[in-house]
Amino acid sequence: MQEEGLTVDYHERTKGSRHLTEHITFWDETLRDGEQMPGVHFTAEEKLAIAEKLSEIGVEVINAGIPVVSAEEAKTVERLAHAGLKAKILAAGRTVPGDVEAIIKSGASQAAIFVAASNVHLRYKLQMTQEQVIQAAQDTVSRAHEAGLFVSFVTEDTTRSDMGFVERLYSAAIDAGADRVVVSDTVGIMTPLTFRWFLREFARVVRPKDWSVHCHNDFGQATANTLTAIEEGVNAPHVCVNGLGERAGNTSLEEVVMSLEILYGVKTGLKTEKLYELSQLVEKLSGVPLPANKALVGYNAFSHEAGIHTHGVLRNSLTYEPLQPETVGRKRRFILGKHTGRAAIVERLKQQGYEATDSQVTRLTELVKLAGEAHGKGDTEQLLEKYHSLFEEPGLKEEEFQQLVKTAGIKARKAPKA
Ligand code: MN
Repeated sequence: MQEEGLTVDYHERTKGSRHLTEHITFWDETLRDGEQMPGVHFTAEEKLAIAEKLSEIGVEVINAGIPVVSAEEAKTVERLAHAGLKAKILAAGRTVPGDVEAIIKSGASQAAIFVAASNVHLRYKLQMTQEQVIQAAQDTVSRAHEAGLFVSFVTEDTTRSDMGFVERLYSAAIDAGADRVVVSDTVGIMTPLTFRWFLREFARVVRPKDWSVHCHNDFGQATANTLTAIEEGVNAPHVCVNGLGERAGNTSLEEVVMSLEILYGVKTGLKTEKLYELSQLVEKLSGVPLPANKALVGYNAFSHEAGIHTHGVLRNSLTYEPLQPETVGRKRRFILGKHTGRAAIVERLKQQGYEATDSQVTRLTELVKLAGEAHGKGDTEQLLEKYHSLFEEPGLKEEEFQQLVKTAGIKARKAPKA
């Protein structure tokens, strides 16, 4: 039904403004940044299940986690590194010698070594000078490089950093053996236009051969900014399944993959028909429900109720759908309700083997509309209540924390601190 494809040629006409690389490597961060989402925790088995699915679909790099976080995390990263997956397993760590030793010990073939680069992070968080940051980056990158790892050098908060410092820091990391460099929009403050400007400046001063971006969705710009980066030649974007991640999350894997495939006509090489399966797995294991209107993988992404839309889609799905649901492993749904029109009723009756006259169809359509209007919210009210109670206090409950304070032998002050 999609023989005509997209009927606009804007994407073709603007091709000259895009500088896409020959091959795009998807670097998945679901198991690291995704897991850092409040309340999310994956067991070793769960990380392995997600990694297997990512690898099967064709994601090339999987950040398994930060081994130095805990003994359990170190074991999990080690397990993924030795699972024999087609995808390359990456482990992350700070520009701290112990972190790098833990990465090397894990058996991961890739390392992502990160440090903050903005003044606000240097002054308040790291309490390090720019020279100290450069030195630490050089030492740790060269250690990982000498150990035979493919090394990515990452800075946090790159988009709020001084470009002169960015130039010196990244150049030092590349000289020390960094194979790939990552620009992070840690607090999601870029827009496609400002990010384009930033990346052009970055490319001019750092001249990266292999680069990546890490975008956050605080203003809902993560996918748009990542696409802008790809248009500027970035070859290994960071993505997370379902857009999981800290605060408002990271760039969604499925959104970037399908934008490239459908809008730009890029063959990503990924098994897109398995994206929904992957999304469902991550929803289940993360415990983070998808919004019904989430692009591509939300319940409503291929659902129609409104009469005009249903009528159009029944004639040709291109009228109100930019891609076939099967492309991402989904099915189209027609919902009966207040907005239902005749076409949906006719179609449904036909499918179910009924024969009806025009006036019967009219009558039934009216009845369906009325029933739709009378239809309550069903169980959603209780569901939402439960949902809010879970997400208002994710993680450990206050009582659990107080119990642990006692277990740690900590006593209350005589008077509460003013
Ligand atoms: Mn992040």
